[in-house]
Amino acid sequence: MGDLRKDPTRGQWVLVRPAGGSPLVGELCPFCPGHEALTPPEVAAYRKEGAAADGPGWSVRVIPEADPYFRIELDLAREGVGMYDKISPRGATELIVESPRHEDTAATMGEAQWEQVLWMYAERIRDLKGDLAIRDILITRRHRQLGARISHPYSRLVAIPIIFDEVRRKLTEAREYYQYKRRCVYCDILRQETAEAARVIQETAHFVALVPYAARAPHEAWILPRQHACAYEASLTPESASDLALLLGGYFRTLRGSLGDPPFEMTLYTAPNRASKVLPGEWATIGEDYHWHLEVIPQPDRLTRVGGIYVTETPPEEAARHLRENWG
Ligand SMILES: [Zn+2]
Ligand SMILES: [Zn+2]
Repeated sequence: MGDLRKDPTRGQWVLVRPAGGSPLVGELCPFCPGHEALTPPEVAAYRKEGAAADGPGWSVRVIPEADPYFRIELDLAREGVGMYDKISPRGATELIVESPRHEDTAATMGEAQWEQVLWMYAERIRDLKGDLAIRDILITRRHRQLGARISHPYSRLVAIPIIFDEVRRKLTEAREYYQYKRRCVYCDILRQETAEAARVIQETAHFVALVPYAARAPHEAWILPRQHACAYEASLTPESASDLALLLGGYFRTLRGSLGDPPFEMTLYTAPNRASKVLPGEWATIGEDYHWHLEVIPQPDRLTRVGGIYVTETPPEEAARHLRENWG
């Protein structure tokens, strides 16, 4: 079953697990309509009225991963092993099948389809946050992943009983910035970037897409909602969802059209499960200091690092200009 072990020198968690039996992937794509029996029973779906669960007729379908890293049916156990800490991998790993059309990609899915995907993200996060053993949730969406066996478009949701290392670092930075300045760091970024405009890719009524000041990869993009809110799932509205769907479609078409359709990884960062606190007073100011957002890294497999320091050879201002001028 495996366990989460903490490296006490780095403060980082590692999932140690037995190698899983690789899920059955034959000739047939298990995510295509009509092949629902090839996947575990669905967790949620948007489907035509009258269409039965685990059959065709859906537009977005969520299934548990066949060989999950984290499992909902486990008990949450925190344990000390001598000086070390370990936790059972209690959580959930779900696959959000974004479209019934096998050939769809992030760039070809229409706005209406993206909108449904965005609502499903919110619905799954809300549902899982009702489980107090779950402390943090990340949704990632990869395109043309190296070695991927399934090309059907999907996102992966991972819900875990601890805070993701990367998220904890972001939360800590945001909180420290707020403690010092009494302002949200992301709101400050929005103010400065829209005033300077050099790294802005696109602005809409509800969102700003920009290349971050210290981009880790050429053409990295962040999408920040103008309206301050720490939790994605609580702040999506019909207007902002359609605005975001339009913006994402434009950005992905730009990647495809002007950068040769590179692989990419998109991550949705939302606030951790505030109902599930380990220490009293934890995240006391998170409503003010954290700001949900999306990050997209093209060519994630080509990131260059030296001892943890990213190296990029394209100035963010140049990348932003390129994306702005070639906006699809
Ligand atoms: Zn398929
Ligand atoms: Zn903010």
